[in-house]
Amino acid sequence: MASWVTWVAFIAICTPTPELSLQERRTANQVADRLRQVGFDVTIAVGGTGVVGLLRNGSGPTVMLRADMDALPVRETTGLAYASVELGTDSEGNQVFVMHACGHDTHVTWLVGAASLLATATHAWNGTLLAVFEPAEEIAQGARAMIDDGLFERFPKPEVIFGQHVMPGEAGQIRYRTGTTQAAADSLQFRLFGRGAHRSMPKSSVDPVVMAAATVMRLQTIVSREIAASQAVVVTIGAMQAGTKDNVIPDEALLRINVRSFDERLRRHALDAIERIVKAEAQASGAPKPPGIIITEHYPLTVNDGEWTDRVAAALRAHFGIERVSELSAPVSASEDFGSFGTEWGVPSVFWYVGGTDPDAYRAAEAAGRVSQNIPTNHNPDWLGCCSPRWRPGCTPWSLPCSTRSASERVDGSGCGTRGGRRAVVSSGGTPARRR
Ligand SMILES: [Zn+2]
Ligand SMILES: [Zn+2]
Repeated sequence: MASWVTWVAFIAICTPTPELSLQERRTANQVADRLRQVGFDVTIAVGGTGVVGLLRNGSGPTVMLRADMDALPVRETTGLAYASVELGTDSEGNQVFVMHACGHDTHVTWLVGAASLLATATHAWNGTLLAVFEPAEEIAQGARAMIDDGLFERFPKPEVIFGQHVMPGEAGQIRYRTGTTQAAADSLQFRLFGRGAHRSMPKSSVDPVVMAAATVMRLQTIVSREIAASQAVVVTIGAMQAGTKDNVIPDEALLRINVRSFDERLRRHALDAIERIVKAEAQASGAPKPPGIIITEHYPLTVNDGEWTDRVAAALRAHFGIERVSELSAPVSASEDFGSFGTEWGVPSVFWYVGGTDPDAYRAAEAAGRVSQNIPTNHNPDWLGCCSPRWRPGCTPWSLPCSTRSASERVDGSGCGTRGGRRAVVSSGGTPARRR
C-alpha cells in the first residue's frame, strides 16, 4: 500500500519543477512513470502533453478522474525548502518565474495517489478507471485539446466524471455544491481603430484613447442597467492600452475584458451587450473601421449533476464525518474547463473543493476576521498547499467514489478516518438518473 510518505515525496518532486501551460512534459513523464509502475495502461501526448491512464478491473462501470497539471508565471515567495526557483518561457517569448500557484501540483499528487491506491486495492472495486491528467487548464485550452485529440473516441466513455480543486480553507475540509458550482468565464480582446496625429492637431485625428475611455464607461452600464438586481454577472476591463508618448495621438487602442456569469442566458446577454457597445462607441467616434474582436479564453459553467452529487456527498460524510463535509450556499466565482468533459461527452460530473490551508493558521485568521488579508489565495506568490497529514484526504475523496465493495473494506490508505459505514458511490448495479 502506498504510504503518506510516498505522496509527500511526489509533491516534493512536483512543486519545485512547475511547468507553464502546454509545456508540462516533465510532469507528464513523472505521472506516466508512476501510473505504469502500478499497472495502468498509459497513453501520453493526448492533446499535447496530456496523460491518460486506464486500469481495467473486471466488469463494471467506467469512472473518470481528472487532475490538471500546469503552473503559472508567478515568482514563488513561500520560503519552502522545496519552493520553485524555475524559470520558463511564456507564449510571447518572455523569461518568467514559474510556480504552482494554483495548487495543481497537489492535484497531480492526489490523482497519482488515488490511482495508486485503487490499483493496489483491486479487491475493493470493479470496473474501469480512467485517470486523466489535463494540460493547460490555466489558459482554458487543455480540455479542448484533449477532446480534439480524440479523448472521446480513443477511451471508454465513463459513467461519471469526478474532479476536485484545492482552495483556501482548513486542510481536510471538503466543500461541494449541487448544480452550478463555478462561474463561466470569457475573455475578449478588442482593437479599437482610430487615426493618429500630432498632439497639436487633434482635428486631424480620431483619438482611440477617448474612444476607449468612453467605451469603458459605457460598459459599466451592462451590469448596472441591463442585469436584474437579483442576478449576478461581472464585467471587468482588465487592461486598456494605447499610445507610447505624450505628443503623439495613437492610431489604435486595446481593451481586454473578462466576463464572469453563473447562467448561460445572462452570459449570452452580457457578451452581446459588450459587442454592441464597443461597435457603437467606435461608430460614434467616427472610427475608420469597426473594432477587431478576438475571444481569447472561454471557461464553461461547471454544473454538478444532482443525483451524483448526493451520492458523492453521502460517501464523503460517511467516511470523514459531517463536520468535515459541507455544502456551499453559492457557486464560487472561479472558473474551470473541467465542465467541458461532461457536457460534451454527455456524462454527469461532480467537482468539489478540498481545503489546503494549515488549519491552525486558518482558524486564527477566521477568529481575527482576517481570512482575506492573512490567508493567501490560489494564484498568490505565497500560496502554500498545506503539506501535512491532514492534507491526505485529497487522495481519499477520489478513491471513495470508485469503491464498490463493502463498507468494512478500506481503500483510502490514509490511516485517518477510521469511521465505518463507507458507502460505494459507483456500483456496477446501476446509474442514477441524471438531474442537473
Ligand atoms: Zn488557477
Ligand atoms: Zn486551478
